[in-house]
Amino acid sequence: MATSVPTQPAYPTDGGCIFCKIVAGQIPCYKVYEDAQMLAFLDIGPIVAGHTLLIPKGHYASILDVPEAVSAALGAVLPRLARAVCAAAGVAACHVLTNAGAEASQSVGHLHYHILPRRAGDGYHLPWPAGKVTPERAAELVRQISAQMR
Ligand code: 5GP
Ligand code: ZN
Repeated sequence: MATSVPTQPAYPTDGGCIFCKIVAGQIPCYKVYEDAQMLAFLDIGPIVAGHTLLIPKGHYASILDVPEAVSAALGAVLPRLARAVCAAAGVAACHVLTNAGAEASQSVGHLHYHILPRRAGDGYHLPWPAGKVTPERAAELVRQISAQMR
């Protein structure tokens, strides 16, 4: 008689991670989209109405760790999901952002993209004070970053 063997997921998981628990169905979520590689659900503490998260099912700490193929799959879904979130919220504007690392305000160590629909007067403020860069510093940054890209 055949016995059923529990199958391992085809992606890395972390038993202590809250988003891995959501992927595994151990913690409920308000799911808005799912396919073989990713999941999108409502944020439990919405900054604005319709605040949605897109995550890979695999556990990758942030965009600094994710393999290109997984990132490409997420990137393929993001525009459609952002349009759907905006349409449902009845708005024509949104932020799509990801925090990577504690200093960048990441609180859950499993890569996620925030989709934040924006409407006039929603009271949400994203401080973005413009700084300055000297031509010398810009040239140095170009050298350093482009060297890392090779
Ligand atoms: P971060 O600060 O890491 O960029 O964002 C983490 C987000 O995950 C926060 O907006 C937070 O509200 C959300 N979050 C944390 N725990 C849960 C949870 O258990 N369920 C859902 N749906 N969202 C969560
Ligand atoms: Zn995880």
